[in-house]
Amino acid sequence: MNFPLNPDLHCHSTTSDGTLTPEELAARAAANGVDLWALTDHDEVGGQQRAIDAAQAHGIRYLTGVEISVTFADATVHIVGLGFDHTDPRMAEGLADTRDGRGPRAVEMGEQLAKVGIHGAYEGALKYVGNPRLISRTHFARFLVDSGVCRDTPEVFRKYLTEGKPGFVPHRWARLGDAVQWITQSGGLAVIAHPARYNFSPNLEYALFSEFKQHGGQGVEVVTGSHSAAEALRYADMAREFGLAASRGSDFHSPDESHIDLGKLPPLPDGLTPVWQLLAGRVH
Ligand code: AMP
Ligand code: MN
Ligand code: MN
Ligand code: MN
Repeated sequence: MNFPLNPDLHCHSTTSDGTLTPEELAARAAANGVDLWALTDHDEVGGQQRAIDAAQAHGIRYLTGVEISVTFADATVHIVGLGFDHTDPRMAEGLADTRDGRGPRAVEMGEQLAKVGIHGAYEGALKYVGNPRLISRTHFARFLVDSGVCRDTPEVFRKYLTEGKPGFVPHRWARLGDAVQWITQSGGLAVIAHPARYNFSPNLEYALFSEFKQHGGQGVEVVTGSHSAAEALRYADMAREFGLAASRGSDFHSPDESHIDLGKLPPLPDGLTPVWQLLAGRVH
């Protein structure tokens, strides 16, 4: 593989909580100069074949992708999988189990919001769902913004959808070791997504990185839409310390919501092994 100049290995389509289809994302990635792309929908690989075909139609290289929700130390951590076989039945089964509780959780979120005077939020959120197997907090956020309850999605999360707030329903996701295993068993490489977002203590963060490594995880997102320049440098150091390869992805969800567009990211800091170097044989 020629060295990609502008890889973007993290984004979401209507198959999870993005607002663009896989085909629209491929067109946008190509227009923005992305030359190696991965669609990483939450807990779902249903968009992968469409993304492979659309990438090919636009002449851009593609790695399969997924972002798996994991519960680690009572917090939610996201693990990105890249370059796996998207038809692998063990991956499909693991993701189906992980998605399973989303429906009942969403109903309960609606009930809790009704108790603070916001009625019809579950039915409202459902109207924004592109994939009936995947209702997420993002769909509630879109409903609460469009119906005028909040000004923007950050305000929704701040006031209603994060721990301790009225619409937050705790949920148990996949185990770290299982998620890493689904990815590696199907030929892929596991990556800790946006590590700066977890607000772990230094001890817990060390535990996450060490356990992830022990389970066979090989990468960490260093450059992502939600990392500052200082955070990118900090996780570049962590990548070197733990012997992890580095990834780069915008985490783009929507032209109206995401402040970082596909492919509009700074380069990886120097002196790192990029994940795409380890995935050369897995590119479509
Ligand atoms: P869920 O998987 O249903 O818990 O929803 C998680 C999704 O909500 C994430 O993937 C983000 O897209 C979105 N999200 C989480 N926290 C925030 C936040 N503070 N502001 C905006 N979006 C957020
Ligand atoms: Mn999301
Ligand atoms: Mn995430
Ligand atoms: Mn994401």
